[in-house]
Amino acid sequence: MTDSAQEKTGLGNYFVANYPPFSAWQASHLPAAHAALNAPPKPGTPLGLYLHIPFCRKRCKFCYFRVYTDKNARDVEVYLGALLKEVELYSKTPAVKGRPLHFVYFGGGTPSYLSAGQLRGLFEKVQELLPWSNTDEVTFECEPGTLQQHKLETLKDLGVSRLSLGIENFDDAILEANGRAHLSAEIFRAYGWARDLRFPQINIDLIAGMVGETWNNWRECVRKTIDLAPDSVTVYQMELPFNTVFSKELQVIGQHTVDPAQVADWPTKRAWVDYAFDEFLKAGYSQSSAYTVVKDAARTKFFYRDSLWHGADMLGTGVASFGHVGGVHMQNVASWEKYVEALERGELPLGRALPVAPRQMLLRELMLQLKTGRLHGRYFHEKFAADILKDFSNEFDSLRRDGYVRLHDDDVELTRRGLLQVDTFLPVFFEPEYRGTRYT
Ligand code: SF4
Repeated sequence: MTDSAQEKTGLGNYFVANYPPFSAWQASHLPAAHAALNAPPKPGTPLGLYLHIPFCRKRCKFCYFRVYTDKNARDVEVYLGALLKEVELYSKTPAVKGRPLHFVYFGGGTPSYLSAGQLRGLFEKVQELLPWSNTDEVTFECEPGTLQQHKLETLKDLGVSRLSLGIENFDDAILEANGRAHLSAEIFRAYGWARDLRFPQINIDLIAGMVGETWNNWRECVRKTIDLAPDSVTVYQMELPFNTVFSKELQVIGQHTVDPAQVADWPTKRAWVDYAFDEFLKAGYSQSSAYTVVKDAARTKFFYRDSLWHGADMLGTGVASFGHVGGVHMQNVASWEKYVEALERGELPLGRALPVAPRQMLLRELMLQLKTGRLHGRYFHEKFAADILKDFSNEFDSLRRDGYVRLHDDDVELTRRGLLQVDTFLPVFFEPEYRGTRYT
């Protein structure tokens, strides 16, 4: 591939969300998942719960998540019943029984697609099975157009501490061209209600490089975000994974690359994120990861992210969800029917798994923590008895020469250049068998 071809936004994922890559997870490893769930937990390991709500009003054209836009009220009830059954099955396993939950995350899909009544029922029943009264954080993802004031009041009352709004862009034409269900008026209305209700933390998600994006509009998006003054802002760079509406449209065109007039290339997207970070820092925000800035670093934490990136256990519930328990990665079946049927039989709906070797645990944490912008050598020494600066001296030296990292006595720090493209170079740490493999 030529340099210029590499810089075009081609089809596929670039985001490194886990290690070893998902393509290595197999159904043949499911006995390891069941063994981990039947063993007592490793003392001191935090536990989280992820609940996947797979409904959306419309499918965004860039979306590759397992979501449904055609389910009726009865289907939603069936799904919520299955989800609760899954939580119940987990709550009885030796790996989970009696363990406090450190964080809870409602993701999707669109959790805010559910009605206030459905949400109240779901929260209350889950908490009967897995109490979370002392949890550090309850995150809830929202699509602005699904929010009404009374739904937000319910969420506040139910203990949501981190409300994450999928705003993505403020321009109606761009929102529409990318298949988003909401328009800008709904953003301001929902944000105002959420602020009035004093949620402890409000996060805004933006995407740099949606189809139709321009420099002028992106500057406006950043300005409007700063005007709203959220507690944190997360900025993603637009990917074009396989199995999205956009990728299918593009494959019909036949080139597997995108018309550059429609989708910005990677250098442009990085320039947009670079600009956004500059503006947020000028407005008093600080960087908390390669994607996120926070207004008040002492107060604004993100326990879900930081716990996962430091090796927490997490129950991944819902269709196609990912989890990790006792050193084993696990993912649920990805089909609605198989998911519901397994739970009707009283079985956990696991579809594939991968036991993670100690060395891979270290690599996983190294790569994920690098995304915070800093690695602390001492942490790896204490947890893994490893000297990462020595063990990976070739990799770090090469990243330093490329201007991605600065090396200190015992720490590694990402430069801005490194923060902007951390996912592109993380594969240098992959074990040889996973280099060049399909990631998902
Ligand atoms: S709202 Fe989120 S999950 Fe739903 S289709 Fe759009 S990107 Fe996908």
